[in-house]
Amino acid sequence: MSAPLLSVAGLCVSYGRVEAVRDVSITVAPGAIVTILGPNGAGKTSLLGAVMGVLRSRGTLAFAGAPIERRAVERRVADGMCLVPEKRELFVTMSVEDNLRLGGFRRRASSDYGATLDRMWTLFPRLKERRAQMAGTLSGGERQMLAMARALMSGPKLLMLDEPSLGLAPLIVRDIFRIVAELRDSGVSILLVEQNARAALELADYGYVLENGSVVLEGPAAALRQDERVIAAYLGIRSVAT
Ligand code: ATP
Repeated sequence: MSAPLLSVAGLCVSYGRVEAVRDVSITVAPGAIVTILGPNGAGKTSLLGAVMGVLRSRGTLAFAGAPIERRAVERRVADGMCLVPEKRELFVTMSVEDNLRLGGFRRRASSDYGATLDRMWTLFPRLKERRAQMAGTLSGGERQMLAMARALMSGPKLLMLDEPSLGLAPLIVRDIFRIVAELRDSGVSILLVEQNARAALELADYGYVLENGSVVLEGPAAALRQDERVIAAYLGIRSVAT
């Protein structure tokens, strides 16, 4: 097995007396999609925030073989980590293209900026059609695409997505998950937090189930899809589309 790209061990995040993440250990192999499932309040967002460095945590974090606990967020971005938060956090009064320019500001002076922008237009043709439109006027699905494209402008090795399907129609979710698979095929590793367990386990290589801040189950996604506890808690209700 190749060395993990991301390795998290014994991670804890607290908000005052609330322990949101307790002794969590996960790894993401290069080129893998790893999903984190779990109910509301399980600690999924806090886990991503700690990995990205926007939240304080205890425990060990290693990226591409190097310890990163003491690295600031900016340094983690420069190293190749990127987080698309659940709220998508776009610059709503700026155009689609200007949002992407900001995502790629580190590259703007370099010659591959134009190539990266072109690649985004290929991955997200809907965004290309709307390149001059104000981000605040995009649909929910288009906003999610723009948030992902903006993150990708920094050329990450690891893309962390917090509930990319939240509030989106099934057809758009399918589109977004197809793009996530394409990104993995192009060599980007993905850490995917999802409420849509069925879709996430179909896409992912490996999964963890987080409950009350702790990992209660983990395994290859194919095995989790067959696990009775996962079926009962997360896959019990079949969606209309299946
Ligand atoms: P959801 O799916 O609802 O987004 P989650 O699994 O991402 O949930 P977190 O958002 O990480 O869970 O929250 C984990 C726990 O930490 C919850 O009990 C939550 O109330 C608490 N928590 C999160 N953020 C804060 C905060 N800023 N201050 C205090 N408690 C917080």
